Amino acid sequence: MKKWMKKEIEVLRKQYGKITRQQIAIKLGRTKRSIDNKINNLGIAKGIGWTEQEIMYLKLFYSEKNKAKLMKLINKSWFTIIAKARSLGLSFQRLTIEQRFWKCVDKKSNDECWNWTGQKNEKGYGQLKIKYKYISTHRLSYELFVGDISSGLCVCHHCDNPSCVNPKHLWLGTISENNEDMVNKGRNKFLIGEQHPSSKITEKQAKIIKELLEQNTSPTVISRKMKVSRRIIYHIKYGETWKHI
Ligand SMILES: [Zn+2]
Repeated sequence: MKKWMKKEIEVLRKQYGKITRQQIAIKLGRTKRSIDNKINNLGIAKGIGWTEQEIMYLKLFYSEKNKAKLMKLINKSWFTIIAKARSLGLSFQRLTIEQRFWKCVDKKSNDECWNWTGQKNEKGYGQLKIKYKYISTHRLSYELFVGDISSGLCVCHHCDNPSCVNPKHLWLGTISENNEDMVNKGRNKFLIGEQHPSSKITEKQAKIIKELLEQNTSPTVISRKMKVSRRIIYHIKYGETWKHI
């Protein structure tokens, strides 16, 4: 093998990482193998060799959740890391649906809206791709934190904010209830209190409900006590109805 000249080593150090090893080989009139060997000998190899510690990190933390951490611990590209993991037969742990959900939620206090910060559809509803299919994130939130959505029912917003995924702002209604709700909030928004066509309670009841809410009584308890639906209570709680009293 041809002895390495000082000048050649200088070129190698300067060019390595800027142009491909193949190009360096051509430039120096050497084989690619000889370039690779020299790079290793000089200890300037990047992304080629794996130390035992790097492999240990890979085995310990190989998951989507730890992507940033791994890239910091192992100074290699994500592509290189994936390729190595595959060659070691490691399986990739993806984030759970719940972890993916929380990554895109601007979580605030219990009563405020929690806006979706990820992808949204044209109507403003958050979208998350799960198993090749987009699903609405307010519906996902309801399923994760409240319960199943029976077929034919829709998840509606007390707060009228399509991007909100706070489970406390969501209620389960039929399509006609949802339409009725939208009409009440829209077309009839100037009618107040008992004049409102959907008013199912009297002003006196509404006042009592408001007082109980102010005392932090839970809507479920109030609903049982007053024998009115939780939806009505939530509408009052979020200031959609009976604002004037
Ligand atoms: Zn909300």
